Amino acid sequence: MLKVINMAPFHQSTKVVLHHKFEVKMHQTDTLIEFTKQVRRDIVRMVHGVQSGHPGGSLGCVEYFTALYQVVMNHNKEFTMDGKGEDLFFLSNGHISPVWYSVLARSGYFPISELGTFRKLNTRLQGHPTTHEGLPGIRVASGSLGQGLSVAAGAAQAKRLNGDKSLVYTLHGDGELQEGQIWEAAMYCAGKKLDNIISTVDMNGQQIDGSTDDVLPMGSLKDKFLAFGWDVIELNEGNNIEKVIAALEEAKTRTGKGKPVMILMKTDMGAGIDFMMGSHKWHGIAPNDEQLKQALDQLVCGNDGDY
Ligand SMILES: [Mg+2]
Repeated sequence: MLKVINMAPFHQSTKVVLHHKFEVKMHQTDTLIEFTKQVRRDIVRMVHGVQSGHPGGSLGCVEYFTALYQVVMNHNKEFTMDGKGEDLFFLSNGHISPVWYSVLARSGYFPISELGTFRKLNTRLQGHPTTHEGLPGIRVASGSLGQGLSVAAGAAQAKRLNGDKSLVYTLHGDGELQEGQIWEAAMYCAGKKLDNIISTVDMNGQQIDGSTDDVLPMGSLKDKFLAFGWDVIELNEGNNIEKVIAALEEAKTRTGKGKPVMILMKTDMGAGIDFMMGSHKWHGIAPNDEQLKQALDQLVCGNDGDY
């Protein structure tokens, strides 16, 4: 019989994964992998339910969000907009909201059953995150691309002014780097020595209209961020939970040294579902009934925790 324990956000100091409906005796990594499967089930069910949304990038970033909210980040599910004394996260490529909503719900921010309202009228789970509906965990609207790093810069500067030693995390798509004020913000973060920022770029090589190289080649992002004055970490296995955790922990050791920290994280768009992987096709397309069944058959969990 599985032991059911209370959900809780996982703080750096505990290093023990505790989550309701997950087997407490399991090795941490195994438990986290079970968690990622459940999150992937949520993603495909959410977008299937309304035949709308962005599964590809969401699936590719499951390990990142799991690592962030279940292991790495010091955060409080008793949400406050100010987030004083806790780490903050800003999602710049807001269209991958399904993965964020799932991980927030399963980290205790709001009822898991609410995932079933995704993209429906009057829901708090809008297709692109907004603050208007008051969903716990959301501190800024995103979806208009290229703005999240600027928001993070302001938050990081506020933390510094307030003597708050907590960190600010951001996630960006690689295609997103082509627009908005990303590079203006990158210059600002380095110029103001905002060394309490850990940003990550999801380098899946895809965007909605094709491969990033076909749409607009960006050259070496490592060279670009280094030239802008950032510390850069390259993560080649962004769908390996242990590697993602290690990269984020390494990034934390590099904060406070005068430079913002960038993780260039290679992932597979659509990761975890074979017919969705490696193509931009599933950037913004929902699976049909048969495709949903095929996907869920690949995502069997030890515990069935579907909403
Ligand atoms: Mg991309």
